[in-house]
Amino acid sequence: MKIDYLTLFPEMFDGILNHSIMKRAQDKGVLQTNTVNFRDFAENKHNQVDDYPYGGGQGMVLKPEPVFNAMQAVEHTEATRVILMCPQGKPFNQALAQELSEAEHLVFICGHYEGYDERIRTQLVTDEVSIGDYVLTGGELPAMTMTDAIVRLIPGVLGNQQSHEDDSFQDGLLEFPQYTRPRSYLGHDVPDVLLSGNHAHIEQWRHEQKLINTWVKRPDLLEQYPLTTEDQKILETYKKQLKK
Ligand code: SAM
Repeated sequence: MKIDYLTLFPEMFDGILNHSIMKRAQDKGVLQTNTVNFRDFAENKHNQVDDYPYGGGQGMVLKPEPVFNAMQAVEHTEATRVILMCPQGKPFNQALAQELSEAEHLVFICGHYEGYDERIRTQLVTDEVSIGDYVLTGGELPAMTMTDAIVRLIPGVLGNQQSHEDDSFQDGLLEFPQYTRPRSYLGHDVPDVLLSGNHAHIEQWRHEQKLINTWVKRPDLLEQYPLTTEDQKILETYKKQLKK
């Protein structure tokens, strides 16, 4: 996968791209990254990339020329996903991370002003994405967040020790509780089933715990999850126990 970041702050990407899984993915040749400072593509002598909004109002607007020019300088095809970081965009989630992890080329456009000239949105972009219902100063942190979530899903990036198969959201549910040594800590014991060596029982317990965990912490996720009759019984039993 190749990722280009169109940004006014290329140095911000150094930390995340040069450590941990992102670095490993690049060392393995699975990921190639490139930052483009679109200020270099401004068409005025002060390299100004923003201007006052037509019609008046507060804040500055990112001009179209630097972003269009920077985009032209980045080699891309019809299949390139050009992602505009924007709080108004569709919410980023694991399903979108999975979809984007299958793309060969991503371009992230990181804003840093009050808004974008609308022609950037309508003419350049394939996806407008938000990382949550809050407003950050710039698109760099959102682009890095998305990169991390996407790249770890590319086959071969995570080792066996760090598989993402059981991660929360992978199958629509939150993950089950995890325990490690010691077996008893401060009077709290690891559930017996995990020590039983019976894999079928462990799998059953983990599935039950995923359902319960999701119902307790994120009941909204269950609205999309195809609960079986057996799943419904597990949740009913749990709810009855709570009432006792
Ligand atoms: N005035 C804009 C609005 O209300 O939609 C917000 C602009 S924000 C201060 C500046 C830039 O930060 C945005 O252009 C975008 O690139 C980025 N940004 C801020 N919050 C974001 C979010 N939740 N998701 C994705 N990008 C975000």
